[in-house]
Amino acid sequence: MLIEQPPKFFRALYPSAIFRMDPEEQSIYLTFDDGPIPEVTPWVLDLLEKYDVKATFFMVGDNIRKHPDIYKMVVDAGHHIGNHTHNHIRGFEYLSRNYLSNTRKADEYMKTELFRPPHGHMRIMQYLLLKRFYKIIMWDVVTRDYSTKLRGPQVLANVMKYTRNGSIITFHDSLKSWNNGNLQYALPRSIEFLKEEGYEFKLL
Ligand SMILES: [Zn+2]
Repeated sequence: MLIEQPPKFFRALYPSAIFRMDPEEQSIYLTFDDGPIPEVTPWVLDLLEKYDVKATFFMVGDNIRKHPDIYKMVVDAGHHIGNHTHNHIRGFEYLSRNYLSNTRKADEYMKTELFRPPHGHMRIMQYLLLKRFYKIIMWDVVTRDYSTKLRGPQVLANVMKYTRNGSIITFHDSLKSWNNGNLQYALPRSIEFLKEEGYEFKLL
């Protein structure tokens, strides 16, 4: 529970960050972190096209530098982009000014006003600096698709259990989520479940 759906005290650390959109609307917001990479991102794009849904991709600047063609595929397909730092760094391990400059460096490779901190945390000073430049997007549901301790059905169960109106749901177009098979299992089934429940898929 503490991981899959962030508790109030955690949300209170970053008061103007967005964890959940309008609870009055039956909408959800799919997000994908850590790409773009050739092994996974094109597969995600094909699947989203098949189900006719759009999503928001929080990208690592250095991955765009290595795979600009895949970045372009995501943009051309009409999805939205967010900044996820240049090197997927942990806030607690960096001085605030270095954290900010790593994030700004990623902006050389993408066009966005959205930011999501890798590993879900940043120092308060980093948060205060970043919110001057970005809309900071956290999440309402972490699927934990990246976990080697979970199998696909458990990842799907997290989506089914925790999703509610306005949820921002986090998957990963990363090798971690791919190599354990969790993304391939849980993503199509999650989309089907959410559609059957009547949720509209929206962009951040
Ligand atoms: Zn990440």
